[in-house]
Amino acid sequence: MSNNEEAEQVQEPPCEHCGIFTLGGNIPIQGVWRDITYTPVRDNIWSVSEGIYRSIFLRGQQGVVAFDTLTTPGTARAYAGAVGRVYPDNPIHTLVYSHDHLDHTGYAADMAPDAHIIAHDLCDRVIRARGSDGQLPATEVFSDERKSFEIDGTCFELIYPGPTHGDGNLAVYLPQSKVLFMVDTVIPGVGYTFFPDWHLVPYVPVMKRLLSLDWDVFVPGHFWITDRKGFIKSLDYFDRMSDIAQQAVISGLDPHDFAEVVTYTDANLKQEFGDLFRYGEYCAMNLSRYMQHYLTGGWGIEGNWQPDTTPL
Ligand SMILES: [Zn+2]
Repeated sequence: MSNNEEAEQVQEPPCEHCGIFTLGGNIPIQGVWRDITYTPVRDNIWSVSEGIYRSIFLRGQQGVVAFDTLTTPGTARAYAGAVGRVYPDNPIHTLVYSHDHLDHTGYAADMAPDAHIIAHDLCDRVIRARGSDGQLPATEVFSDERKSFEIDGTCFELIYPGPTHGDGNLAVYLPQSKVLFMVDTVIPGVGYTFFPDWHLVPYVPVMKRLLSLDWDVFVPGHFWITDRKGFIKSLDYFDRMSDIAQQAVISGLDPHDFAEVVTYTDANLKQEFGDLFRYGEYCAMNLSRYMQHYLTGGWGIEGNWQPDTTPL
């Protein structure tokens, strides 16, 4: 081995947990540190964000219950760092997964590799099938609609109200503080891109079940914290898109001609939705996805689930 080869080997950085990437080698962008802001919400509840993604953690008597791992190995480490700055003597002993997607729960191995991990069974099944490097399977699963937890002095309830987005997506209800946390459902403004892995038939009726609970602060998985009014406004947007997409198809708009979809969106939707956050980025994509839903019949069992609409 030449000196140059030896030097190259020494300089090789340690391999990150690489998710489901298959190209091999390190992926530096996955390891980039992200500054995390942390904000008190109520009582022992804190919220963390790197600007786009958001989560919560709870202070216990001895340690911390953290929800999700944020987006990448580097962000997961930064999230753990932020928790450590707030409570340097309280280690993260418990993680709760919101749903199966790697950008929210992909890197427990980087954040708290020895933590107890709670997830809904539907979420854990996907995680085990996926086998993604860094996404640790749950150590405790449940399959009920609601389950209460008392861990290290924290009290919270995990609720699976029905299919919404991803698999096993949970609402986290903190009844003593009247706070609700749920990821990749209600967010400020229009919907995210083309509604990836949203289950459009059950989505709104399932989400409305959560209005029967007593809360006045809603923490979403992205952007800023809102309230019941913001929650209802977001669901109203989905209801309107459902009607408008059907009308667009009936009017002869071709969803495969994206330039035409953008033109139609600006001509017909801008007056009603133009002031919503990220209208210009995503509204046409939202419309296109809803049109495809009516043309294809939606996707899979979850996308055609007839939801339980009884109050929780
Ligand atoms: Zn998701």
